[in-house]
Amino acid sequence: MALIVQKYGGSSVADASGVKRVAKRIAESKRAGNDVVVVVSAMGDTTDELIDLANAITPVPPSREMDILLTAGERISMSLLAMAIANLGIEARSFTGQQAGVITDDVHGKARIIDVTPSRIQAAIDEGAVAIVAGFQGVTQHTNDVTTLGRGGSDTTAVALAAALKADVCEIYSDVDGVFTADPRIVPSARKIDRISYDEMLEMAASGAKVLVLRCVEYARRYGVPVHVRSSFSAHTGTMVTNYEDAEGGDEGADVMEQPIIAGVAHDSSEAKITVVGVPDVPGTAAHIFEVVAGSGVNIDMIVQNVSAAATGLTDISFTLPATDGTAAMTALAESQAEVGFASLQYDDTIGKLSLIGAGMKSHPGVSARLFSALSAAGINIEMISTSEIRISVVTRADQLADAVRAVHTAFDLDSSEDEAVVYGGTGR
Ligand code: ASP
Ligand code: MG
Repeated sequence: MALIVQKYGGSSVADASGVKRVAKRIAESKRAGNDVVVVVSAMGDTTDELIDLANAITPVPPSREMDILLTAGERISMSLLAMAIANLGIEARSFTGQQAGVITDDVHGKARIIDVTPSRIQAAIDEGAVAIVAGFQGVTQHTNDVTTLGRGGSDTTAVALAAALKADVCEIYSDVDGVFTADPRIVPSARKIDRISYDEMLEMAASGAKVLVLRCVEYARRYGVPVHVRSSFSAHTGTMVTNYEDAEGGDEGADVMEQPIIAGVAHDSSEAKITVVGVPDVPGTAAHIFEVVAGSGVNIDMIVQNVSAAATGLTDISFTLPATDGTAAMTALAESQAEVGFASLQYDDTIGKLSLIGAGMKSHPGVSARLFSALSAAGINIEMISTSEIRISVVTRADQLADAVRAVHTAFDLDSSEDEAVVYGGTGR
């Protein structure tokens, strides 16, 4: 008998029949002899609709009230799901994040989990009930205010509960069969990955793969929670996210041998690029520029500094950032112009980022060369490059990004020879 935490995304519980279908699936796991804890997201597009509703009332809703509003979405689905399971003759109890003991910091809208004390969940499973927990929400430690964990935060709730309950596995159910070598919406020949390491999954999530949120993967890695990403619309085995050496059915040496060089290609079209033109090439200027950007609360991603022209002693610095932070960063930089002494600013939100990820690239030469030649053969210009030990990212024009992803996917022999990947619902969550 195992303790399983299952998380169902909004597309899996989009309507009453979805709720009933998921309830059946949960009942099957329970009847098979497992203890089951379920984390559920808001139905379909409920969260977006609640955000629209708030914005129709006021352009800047108070963040505390916004959080209480948004947690309502998950409370609706948790109670309906508990009813549906009860209908199948299995006792089910639903719990809000607060009741489940999800304690967070007080940053409304993107709170971090600081502790999980799931005594009521443990009691429910000890008494033979299925516990249903509202995802994406918690309560602050000191003020008892309700918080949310940021978009897609139910994944994090599930992994955090799995860690606290010492669950055997955390199953994340969405409308795709697992983690793919690229987004199946762009690359129909993308292949399902059977097994991926935490490190690779972290890079994939940080590089725009939306199948799991970044914080959930960070949490899973820190606590060693095995995560099984799979579809609630099919019975297929999905993708196991673990340390390679922890994976079932193989000794460490064999696993390392099997490890593919490349795990997949991720893409992100949510970033923008700022270029600071005519920057004095003297010590301290870059520090000053990025202090200004950091001071505006903006997280930057890639940075490129050109060689300065000898005649002028001036250089250009470009960096990428989430497009949603573009205005904040541009405003802060413009205010600092006289002090920093640059000539002008350029803003470009028509960029795309492609990232090639694979733990094997650490020990295999030639990966960058193959990537760049695939892009050049497809006529795609590279504007920026950055690398980590297991990732190479390039910035391209936004309208060339999809072609770039397909070209690179093919160049690294990632295309599947089997049927096309299935997207059951359409949202990928
Ligand atoms: N309902 C929330 C959202 O859409 C949380 C989640 O789905 O994980 O972001
Ligand atoms: Mg959702």
